[in-house]
Amino acid sequence: MRPDAVRLMTAHRSKGLEWRLVVVAGVQEGLWPDLRRRGSLLEADRIGRDGLAEPLTPGALLSEERRLFYVAATRARERLVVTAVKAPADDGDQPSRFLTELGVEPKDITGRPRRPLSVAALVAELRATTVDPRASDTLREAAARRLARLAALSDSDGRPLVPSAHPYRWWGMYEPTASEIPLRDRDKPVVLSGSALDQLANTCALQWFLGREVKADAPATAAQGFGNVVHVLADEVASGRTPADLAVLMERLDSVWDALAFDAPWKSAQEKEHARVALERFLQWHVMDRASRTPVASEHGFDVTLEAGPYEVRVRGSMDRVEQDAENRAYVVDFKTGKQSPTAAEVARHPQLAVYQLAVREGAADELFGGVRPEAGGAELVQLRQAAAKKNGGDAFPKVQAQEPLSGEWVGELLATAAGKVLDERFTPTAGQHCTHCAFRASCSARPEGRHVVE
Ligand code: SF4
Repeated sequence: MRPDAVRLMTAHRSKGLEWRLVVVAGVQEGLWPDLRRRGSLLEADRIGRDGLAEPLTPGALLSEERRLFYVAATRARERLVVTAVKAPADDGDQPSRFLTELGVEPKDITGRPRRPLSVAALVAELRATTVDPRASDTLREAAARRLARLAALSDSDGRPLVPSAHPYRWWGMYEPTASEIPLRDRDKPVVLSGSALDQLANTCALQWFLGREVKADAPATAAQGFGNVVHVLADEVASGRTPADLAVLMERLDSVWDALAFDAPWKSAQEKEHARVALERFLQWHVMDRASRTPVASEHGFDVTLEAGPYEVRVRGSMDRVEQDAENRAYVVDFKTGKQSPTAAEVARHPQLAVYQLAVREGAADELFGGVRPEAGGAELVQLRQAAAKKNGGDAFPKVQAQEPLSGEWVGELLATAAGKVLDERFTPTAGQHCTHCAFRASCSARPEGRHVVE
């Protein structure tokens, strides 16, 4: 015997059956009657006993649809409810002509339903009711009982049908946990990179923690591959292993490009063209007079330990290019291949450039200057994907964004803030523009799409 339940079916399936109450939902013009020809690909509807029959004419199709609607509507013994939506604009959804043929004046219900008619919305409403201080005790208890009934439902294999109804899935009810093993040893310097500093101190510490420490970031994308290839070629030119010749660089590019996984061949071709333009700009920049600076190293690794307030911070990384300026100072260049660039104000306080300059101050470039510590003469970002302003040479040259030699205490403060967050394990989310490409949005309490995890 069938349990008490609502049966959902098509009008065709309802033939010969009857119920006390029948709801015929979504009786919209365009859907019912549906005057498109059926089985249009194989035309199975035309197969008859004596071969292929003529396709139904629109008139015959309309009669067929009307008969079907009649079948659906006459399944009700006591009560029939027919629903349709009516958009205010004439070109929006309109009720079917069959509705008027019923001979009953439709009842308009304006506005939206209190909640979507879905299981998820029902569970959400019941959960909210169980903790709503304005609801009576009886109502709250009734909501809890219904949740328990939903949570107990399972399919024939014993799998829960409505898992979200069970409190064990309500993540927000769990007490925060604390690890017994500290993330970092307080007695050792905190190891940070320039980009980590930016995330920790300026954008979002949670993003840093999940991406860098938990290593939950998405796998490397082709965009990162693009950057790596261009960096390697720039290094080869700077170190003299490859001549500063676009044809040679393009040959080198050809030999590795196909190893980058792009979503489609057209995307690969498009990006390769961008890579060509980036390399061309790099060459223009490489051979031009850069305020009489001369290159002294490329891909120069460094590892220095700095004092930052009460902390010691060990900064490791690699400088794309170190140059010597006319005053014998060290100037650091960082090549970028991203589509966005920071604003002038952001460059003035760009943590990565500042860390390079600090590192120079602490001896990172000594060996390149004959063992004598050079002063830091500034640093710059060379945006290879972006054209310089017209007055700086236009399209053929890259956009260059320079940072003055460091002054003031701001970098030290930045380092101390970042180190403090790591040691105290304060990884609170800070929403902003950087959320756009964040892989953790769906589980982040600072974002609407992730709030369900904690609420
Ligand atoms: S979504 Fe935004 S706030 Fe949340 S972790 Fe990512 S960057 Fe931080």
